[in-house]
Amino acid sequence: MTDTPTKAAELLHLRGQTLTKGDPIAPPITMASMYHLPGEPGGVPGYGRADQPTWEATEHLLSHLEDAPALLFPSGMGAISAALFATLHAGDKLLVPSDGYYNVRKLADLFLSGLGVEIIERPTAAFAEGGFEGISVVFIETPSNPGLDLVDLAATCEAVRGAGGITVIDNTTMTPLGQRPLELGADVVVASDTKAPGGHSDNLMGHVASRDPALMERVRSWRTVAGGIPGPFEAWLLHRSLETLPLRFATMCATAKALAPRLAAHPAIALCRHTSLPGDPSHNLAATQMETNGFLIGLTLKDAATAEAFIDGCPFLRPATSFGGVHSSAERRARWGDEVAPGFVRLSIGCEPQEPLWAALKEALDRL
Ligand SMILES: *Cc1c(COP(=O)(O)O)cnc(C)c1O
Repeated sequence: MTDTPTKAAELLHLRGQTLTKGDPIAPPITMASMYHLPGEPGGVPGYGRADQPTWEATEHLLSHLEDAPALLFPSGMGAISAALFATLHAGDKLLVPSDGYYNVRKLADLFLSGLGVEIIERPTAAFAEGGFEGISVVFIETPSNPGLDLVDLAATCEAVRGAGGITVIDNTTMTPLGQRPLELGADVVVASDTKAPGGHSDNLMGHVASRDPALMERVRSWRTVAGGIPGPFEAWLLHRSLETLPLRFATMCATAKALAPRLAAHPAIALCRHTSLPGDPSHNLAATQMETNGFLIGLTLKDAATAEAFIDGCPFLRPATSFGGVHSSAERRARWGDEVAPGFVRLSIGCEPQEPLWAALKEALDRL
């Protein structure tokens, strides 16, 4: 198993190992579309759509965290699109979760199916049943967003490989510090770094990581020719954020674990989902494949109005879509059409000190 604390310590000194006297400790932001390129090209940056030193600084950190080559994209969906366009061909079958992040299904329905890819949907909980024969790419989200169901990564990746397909794992909810799909047999990891890795609700970014060099070459080519590329400043912002990710992630996960049983016990909460809870359907599997239980909590309140009153009534909750920021946030997911109860709230625990946060959550719940 990966030594995550050592990885976090190394992360802070990765760039330091490459410096010479007088270099800035923080990476410079390189604003460049053109590079000095006399004679034959090759071996040096050639053009800004293909080569970017600030992306490379951030990719250096991501690839350290993933223990695999990583490529940066301007959003999580940019990364997911790259992974799917780099791996699928006309006539292929793509399996996506019916209860995962909805834009993946939208990408499949709006664009991939028109190019001759057959789209199959299944609930996350049904991935355990197998049946991957004839499927080229199996897209997995675990824990699923927002339902927080798990897929057994080691068993599923092995079954998909046995059936001749590849697995693409969306690791957004856990980050490489909380779950390591490549070590559990996954072919490709994709993630939205807009969430906890960015962490300050001010930047969108994403990445693809894989240990398959030919596959990564196709992902890189997709980025270069499709042209959806990160801006240097945004890449730099993610670099800055990644340096505090271990600290923020540890705090967020520890607070979520401490508050989950208290939330579960509150009379206003009909159902509380967090994999740390002994009665959670995902509890045992989480212990075998996740390094922590994450910072997302699923809460089911009586109805939509009660859920909205809870979110609005807590001064330490931002009512916002997305998650993983330093500010705790919450959202009633049914407002986007997710197949969840009308009173289901996805709670993203932030970096507020634990007891003041609990006091504010409890007060809002008590008032319902
Ligand atoms: C947010 C999210 C995405 C999309 O990421 P963006 O950065 O918003 O493009 C993909 N997958 C999951 C699980 C997400 O939560």
